[in-house]
Amino acid sequence: MLQTRSGKRTAPAAVKIAVDMEGEGLIDKEAAIMRIEPAQIDQLLHPMFDGSELAAAEKLTKGLPASPGAATGKIYFTASDAEAAVVNGEKVILVRLETSPEDLAGMVAAEGILTARGGMTSHAAVVARGMGKCCVSGCSEIKVDEGNKELTIGNHVFKEGDYISLDGTAGDVLKGKVKTVPPELSGDFGKIISWADEIRTLKVRTNADNPRDAKQAVEFGAEGIGLCRTEHMFFEEERIPAVRRMILADNEEERREALKFLLPYQKSDFKGIYEAMGERPVTIRLLDPPLHEFLPHTDVEIRELSKQINVPYENLAKKTEELHEFNPMLGHRGCRLAVTYPEIAEMQAEAIIRAAIEVRAEKGLDIIPEIMIPLVGLRTELADVKKTVIKVVDQVMADVGAKFDYLVGTMIEIPRAALTADEIAKEAEFFSFGTNDLTQMTFGFSRDDTGKIIKEYREKGIFDDDPFQSIDQVGVGKLVEMAVELGRQTRPNIKLGICGEHGGEPKSIDFCHRVGLQYVSCSPFRVPIARLSAAQAVIRNR
Ligand code: PEP
Ligand code: MG
Repeated sequence: MLQTRSGKRTAPAAVKIAVDMEGEGLIDKEAAIMRIEPAQIDQLLHPMFDGSELAAAEKLTKGLPASPGAATGKIYFTASDAEAAVVNGEKVILVRLETSPEDLAGMVAAEGILTARGGMTSHAAVVARGMGKCCVSGCSEIKVDEGNKELTIGNHVFKEGDYISLDGTAGDVLKGKVKTVPPELSGDFGKIISWADEIRTLKVRTNADNPRDAKQAVEFGAEGIGLCRTEHMFFEEERIPAVRRMILADNEEERREALKFLLPYQKSDFKGIYEAMGERPVTIRLLDPPLHEFLPHTDVEIRELSKQINVPYENLAKKTEELHEFNPMLGHRGCRLAVTYPEIAEMQAEAIIRAAIEVRAEKGLDIIPEIMIPLVGLRTELADVKKTVIKVVDQVMADVGAKFDYLVGTMIEIPRAALTADEIAKEAEFFSFGTNDLTQMTFGFSRDDTGKIIKEYREKGIFDDDPFQSIDQVGVGKLVEMAVELGRQTRPNIKLGICGEHGGEPKSIDFCHRVGLQYVSCSPFRVPIARLSAAQAVIRNR
């Protein structure tokens, strides 16, 4: 034999070949598992382009492959225009400079999302992956003029209503309409995944913040929620005025008044999530983003809001200015919010526990909430917020005569927390590695502003992989390993998981297996990839 080559095959073909060969006794189950490329599984779960139409399509530019699948539709430049067009029966691609939580409804309505800025862990990328929606982010060669509703790519100018197509698996932007074909899930795939489940030792949880995503993840085999972000819920129409009242409050009393209004909403959010997950563990994170994300940014929006909530324009503009941060990821966010405004953490802790009490009573489910405190760097700041949380939980339990277990833990996402994990573990019952922020802070690369640089670094061979996609095992990984070891020194049974986006990426999952984490948590559509990758990690590292 002089030479062999791997036969090129689509994902459905790869799965069928592997299962048939096992059935014929040519290979065993482990070999069958190793023959599937985890990244290919995307083809089984998302629409893809029709092969011949794709071959004929004109490729305009490339961005980051932020969320897999294919989408085609008419361009709209704002979330509200996108929503309105979808109501009129159109298929839409939402094009933005970058997205923020305010754009959520437009993102839900759109077929796909294209952004000029942002990396693999930018808002657009993370949210789109959560929804299983195609997204190309950090597409630095496009010019988005949101005011004039114009998209320029090279010498092509697209107006609102023109068609473009996105390949979120490759990161390509294509001209015009390109036909998509729906995903194909066969029984053979179920077989491979169940073989993987017999082998893997890592548990697979999901990152989900609403019952719809949670149910989807359970269908894909998620064994719990590793990260429920609580910020998206705050943007819903009925709540955002109260959130803004809370932010604009001049004193604690006014803030508490606004929070009182939000409490029943948060409680029902958590009830919905507990119910969708049954008795599977659910980790709910206290509020993390900087508060200015909840306020309007342009002058027109500030004027509009000032009329709506009856606050003088000057006061509102001043407060917005005060809250503005140049680097929104390193200022007044994470546990710093709970240290400075404990009443926010109190409301959230109360909602988490009351929801658990009600679901336990109504559905007879043994819910054990896991309350997660974000962005901790010091044992003392974790202790401070934990005290606030425990005080509320004890009080609520005493009021209703309930008694059940709950956990309070933290994210390890600041390098100092990893370096002092033995200290942090004195307070934390679990660690969840927030490798998005940990990567950002270890490299000093802003997760929203470095997409273009990382692309060049990869082209020049400085990086083999984008560290926001595949964990940097040498640097960031060293911090993770160190924190695992130090955390266990203090608390041998500490629960250890990862909830950064790396939790759904095959090479990073192999790393998590090797360092001895107990679970990975990833967006719902990556759960099957994680199940397969976790089994491959066992086989590969034996
Ligand atoms: C992280 O930092 O890895 C994380 C999961 O949190 P977020 O992406 O919400 O900052
Ligand atoms: Mg984080």
